[in-house]
Amino acid sequence: SFTTRAAAQPLKNADELIDSVETFIFDCDGVIWKGDKLIEGVPETLDMLRAKGKRLVFVTNNSTKSRKQYGKKFETLGLDVNEEEIFASSFAAAAYLQSIDFPKDKKVYVIGEDGILKELELAGFQYLGGPQDGDKKIELKPGFLMEHDHDVGAVVVGFDRYFNYYKIHKRYGTLCIRENPGCLFIATNRDAVTHLTDAQEWAGGGSMVGALGGSTQREPLVVGKPSTFMMDYLANKFGISKSQICMVGDRLDTDILFGQNGGCKTLLVLSGVTSLETLQSPNNSIQPDFYTNKISDFLSLKAA
Ligand code: PLP
Ligand code: CA
Repeated sequence: SFTTRAAAQPLKNADELIDSVETFIFDCDGVIWKGDKLIEGVPETLDMLRAKGKRLVFVTNNSTKSRKQYGKKFETLGLDVNEEEIFASSFAAAAYLQSIDFPKDKKVYVIGEDGILKELELAGFQYLGGPQDGDKKIELKPGFLMEHDHDVGAVVVGFDRYFNYYKIHKRYGTLCIRENPGCLFIATNRDAVTHLTDAQEWAGGGSMVGALGGSTQREPLVVGKPSTFMMDYLANKFGISKSQICMVGDRLDTDILFGQNGGCKTLLVLSGVTSLETLQSPNNSIQPDFYTNKISDFLSLKAA
């Protein structure tokens, strides 16, 4: 059986929502920034929430940077956010491996960019692969056999702008997962599209994950939104109850589901990829508790 949620309500009284939770989890792209541009009113809004004693946490599915690199991005945008408050899907991959005591003498093969490599290194894992690993030209002579490392115990797949065929097959990707049923297949996220520029939608991390899924015929374990891993991880780390959390995001199938899967309150902002028309379309079945234009509405939406 399933329950249908009531249609999302426009946020009318921000103080009531703010007073009803102790933690806000903010998605990043579309909520805090758009690409490299800060969204209007964000610094003042975060300051107000901190002044009220709210815990602020930032979660992004974009695995290309480490939390340290995101720390720099927040700083560049003039936002006072600590690395420890940032949970990127790159970090989630390393945190997941730690949570299952992935052996330090095994290796992780990475299809993805720098953020994942940095987080694995920080967590003390041995890794191979990364953006530069894809051979563009391999001569397929008769008898050619691609070698692979039998110490690879996990393949982590994230957004990779250097992705190519040889990464799918090469040494540890398909070879590792297919040849070793115990090898883990971990995806940082499976976003179908992303917004590298505001002019169009670009293929997202889900395209790389789908390629590996297609060749291995296995389902990945997803650590980013909307999976519950990061929510459980941070609720546990900060000792917070999920009913005391409001998840704020611009995407229905990642952010709002992430909040709802965790049993949190949810707020959709229209400053990113979802329009009011999409939210209210009969084709959409994901209804947040509330929606509003942007988080700085918190500063003006007071009870009448
Ligand atoms: N993945 C990639 C590669 C991206 O560029 C983005 C957004 O810029 C995302 C995922 C989604 O990020 P977020 O979860 O912060 O909206
Ligand atoms: Ca987003």
